[in-house]
Amino acid sequence: MSHPRNVATMRSSPRCGAQTRNGEACRAPALRGRMRCRMHGGAWGSGAPCGNSNAVKHGYFTSEAIEERRFVRTVLEDAEDLLRRLPAASDTIRNPRESETGCTTPGTDSPLRT
Ligand SMILES: [Zn+2]
Repeated sequence: MSHPRNVATMRSSPRCGAQTRNGEACRAPALRGRMRCRMHGGAWGSGAPCGNSNAVKHGYFTSEAIEERRFVRTVLEDAEDLLRRLPAASDTIRNPRESETGCTTPGTDSPLRT
């Protein structure tokens, strides 16, 4: 009598991925709701409590600051995408003097120009 194991769901579960001492990624399953396994900081009760501000020095990495930077990035990417989709005449709109004099003004180089 054979008992084929159904391990598809087990294998598809998220893995820890922490760097181990031999330099490879940890392959242990991550705990439910966590990104790490029980040995790499995913255990319940480990880590700082929510809202803990004991180690805040400048607030650059607070969730609000990270979310704000992410929002600004998406707005800039959307604007860049919109500018890319404009017709080629937008070069004269960007810097009208450039087309008259034939020289570039320092600081007006755009990463959009490829
Ligand atoms: Zn791990």
